[in-house]
Parts: sequence; C-alpha cells; structure tokens
Amino acid sequence: MAQVRLDHISKTFASGDDQVRAVDDVTLDIEHHEFMILLGPSGCGKSTLLRVVAGLEDPTAGDVYIGDRRVNDVVPKERDIAMAFQRYALYPHKTVAANIEFPLKVRGVGRAERAAEALRAAEVLGLEHHMKRKPGQLSGGQRQRVALARAIVRNPAVFLMDEPLSNLDAKLRGDTRAELVDLHRRIDSTFIYVTHDPVEAMTMGSRVAVLNEGRLQQVGTPQEVYDRPATAFVAQFIGTPPMNLLPAGLWGSDTVQVGIRPEHLRLVPGGPLHAVVRQVEHLGHEVLLFADANGTRLVSRIDPNSFVPEVGDPVAFDAEPGRLHRFHPESGERIE
Ligand code: ADP
Ligand code: MG
Repeated sequence: MAQVRLDHISKTFASGDDQVRAVDDVTLDIEHHEFMILLGPSGCGKSTLLRVVAGLEDPTAGDVYIGDRRVNDVVPKERDIAMAFQRYALYPHKTVAANIEFPLKVRGVGRAERAAEALRAAEVLGLEHHMKRKPGQLSGGQRQRVALARAIVRNPAVFLMDEPLSNLDAKLRGDTRAELVDLHRRIDSTFIYVTHDPVEAMTMGSRVAVLNEGRLQQVGTPQEVYDRPATAFVAQFIGTPPMNLLPAGLWGSDTVQVGIRPEHLRLVPGGPLHAVVRQVEHLGHEVLLFADANGTRLVSRIDPNSFVPEVGDPVAFDAEPGRLHRFHPESGERIE
C-alpha cells in the first residue's frame, strides 16, 4: 500500500543573495492508488514538490512518507518510485523492447522474464507491434509512450510524472490522456502527476491539489474545486473561460468580491448588472459574449440559438440563483 504523505514541506533555494521559497509549508495526503494532480501556473513549485517526493531534492523543512516509511534519508532508487518527465531520454541505438526492458536488466532480471514484462507494459500502451523498431522510427507520441512503458516495467509503488504530455500535439495529448487514465486503472501504483493545464487536471485526476506561489490553495476532486473554489485564485485558474470576478461594490455587497462562472451569468432584460458588449465569439456549440461593466471585463457563455446581442449593445446580466461565489477582497479566501 503506497500512500504518500507530505508533512509541512518547505523548500527554499538560494538565488544569488535572495532566497526563493519554491514550496511553502505544503501538507498533502495522497491515498493508495490515487491519481493525484499537482496543478498550478509555471513557477508555483510543482516540479520542486515532485522532486522532493522522488528524493531528487531535500526539503528545507518537513517530512516525506511513502507507505509507512519516512523517506527523507532514503535515496531515490530505494523509494520504490518511477518518474516520467516532459523530456525523456531513450537509447537511440536500442530497440523499443530493449529500451523498455532496460530498468529490469539493471536489476539483474533474467532475459525471458524481462521480455515478458516488457511486452506486458508495451501492450498496456499499445506498443506491442513496434518492439523491434528503434526510437528514430517512431513518432513523438510513440516515443513518449516507450518512456512511460519503461517506467511501468519497474512496477513502482508510486509513479511520478512531470508534464509528460506537454511536448505532444493537441490530438495526441488528448489520446494519451485517456491512455494514462486507463493505465492507472490497470496497475496498482499511486500516481502523482504535475501539470499547469487545468483541462488535464480536471479530466485525469481523482483529486487535484492546486498550488500558487509555493502554497497549497485547495485539494479536492475536480468537481469540488470547480464548484467550491477555496480562493479567488483557484476560481480563476480552473475553468475556461475563467470565472468572472467582480470587485467589491459592483454586485450587491460592497465588501466582498463576487465570482460568477461564465455559464451562470445570463442575459436577463432588467437584470442588475449592466454592461456593454465588447466582443462576440461564435464557437458553434456556444457563443462567448465579452462585455464591459464599469471597467470590469465580463464573459458569459450563451446558447447560439438564443438572442445574441452585437458589439456596442447595452445588456443586462443576472446570475443563476445559488451560483454566486464570494471571496474576501484582500486575502481572496472563500466566504460561505
Ligand atoms: P513549476 O514546476 O511549478 O514551474 P518549479 O518547482 O520548477 O516550478 O520552481 C518553483 C520556483 O523555484 C521557481 O521560482 C524556480 O525559479 C525556483 N527554482 C526551482 N529550482 C531551483 C533551483 N535549483 N535553484 C534556484 N531556484 C529554483
Ligand atoms: Mg515544472
């Protein structure tokens, strides 16, 4: 059973005379066989946190547990983990089969068993017909899958992935996303997956841990973080287009920020929020209406078959009942 526990982890780097606090007091419990996503913008500390789990960085403070074992002093290769990165290095002169088998060869596993294990991993990733090829004869996506298969054969307790899909084109990224979810279902490892892409996080994760500036903002299922974002940051980071955030005073209370998702901001004649249409984007299945309300930019998703106003039109909005979010104007914390 490989649950992973991060207990008050901080990591500070010296940068010239300055200190960079890459990870700031993060406590996170990851259950056995979870698909946990670490999500946040570039520079928020995701990779550093993953590297702390891997043992590639020592935390400045805090403890890391894998299973029941405190692993702060355990070297990476004894942590029962495997890692896959955005930049993967395959051996160009070895076949796919030899690349996948390599970690087993290092461990001294016999030839027949190696081949069988490699084939099993290859089948999981749909590579079984390419075993004799060299990496140069594969597409980028296939090479990425070879790197994943090579990590799978190690049968790790914990599988760590750092933006492994970001080099793939959009179509392949979508396919590989689905493959990883399927892979997770079929193997017993715990997954920790780093991404800056909210769509990846929402579609793959059993839970999502949202980070900003080294701090943990919220942990929850994709639906929980979407429905009840704990901070204004989470509210705007998750969801495309992002949640509308109205400064205190624009809607009702003059002391809190009010958040309304674009799908909950409706055109209602006589509605309380007055704005002027600035841009109309026809996406086929929906229309995005961008408007200006006293200097605040709003976006509303509307049905293309309903009335669609034009640029320059004055409009009025209302929010769907029960769909308002309220945040503290300075701290950004959610107010119930
Ligand atoms: P992310 O993966 O979320 O983009 P990182 O964990 O790579 O973020 O980096 C978090 C912060 O720590 C950034 O400000 C980055 O510049 C800094 N940082 C990361 N690694 C080092 C390092 N080895 N030395 C100095 N600063 C670092
Ligand atoms: Mg990173």
